[in-house]
Amino acid sequence: MLSYDEMKRNIDNIEARIQAACKRAGRDRSEVTLIAVSKTNPLEAVHTANDCGLKVFGENRVQEMCLKMDETDRELEWHLIGHLQTNKVKYIIGRTAMIHSVDSLKLAQEIEKESAAKGVITPVLIEMNVAEEESKFGVIGDAVYELVREISELKHVSLKGLMTVAPYTEDPESNRKYFRKLKDLSVDINSKNIDNVNMSVLSMGMTGDFEVAVEEGATHIRVGTGIFGARNYEV
Ligand SMILES: *Cc1c(COP(=O)(O)O)cnc(C)c1O
Repeated sequence: MLSYDEMKRNIDNIEARIQAACKRAGRDRSEVTLIAVSKTNPLEAVHTANDCGLKVFGENRVQEMCLKMDETDRELEWHLIGHLQTNKVKYIIGRTAMIHSVDSLKLAQEIEKESAAKGVITPVLIEMNVAEEESKFGVIGDAVYELVREISELKHVSLKGLMTVAPYTEDPESNRKYFRKLKDLSVDINSKNIDNVNMSVLSMGMTGDFEVAVEEGATHIRVGTGIFGARNYEV
């Protein structure tokens, strides 16, 4: 686990690069939320990041997110960014600020059911597989339009935008076309003025490519290793 000074240095570095990317793109820094992806890191690391000023955290597994939410005594915001199984939905409704990974009507309907039962409205994003990678979750191509219409009918689910996990690459420029595609898709869906649909969120960009994502319009970037250091999956 990184010390406060080490993590502060990482966060200052990421912050400077976000600001530079915003400047290049003529965007205001306030348009971009940095989500610190804390998966596999202990709660102490989350608290260190919080001491450095971060309040928004992302987890890709329900059980790990719930453990951290249960154990912390701090006011933090939690985003579920990984694949979500319908049988786990009940554990996070009313506790997560946003679910980034909706990729089926079945999942959206389960979120609707649990949200209605708890009397809350859950903000969600549709996860797109823009590069059409076989190994990835997410909706491919025009199928998104039907899913948007179906989700718009759900009263306790609020569709806020789109999310993608771009291909792993050493060359961030190679993902620019995918980020641009996600942005274009979100503008197109928004132009249809569907009730209960407001495409204001674009969740894209990770440690390796967040600057390109910010240049292409990301409103939420998800940065893990750039903040917490390399993940250790063995512990
Ligand atoms: C792990 C993860 C990230 C963060 O990845 P880094 O490369 O460590 O920044 C972002 N998004 C999702 C969906 C993830 O699972």
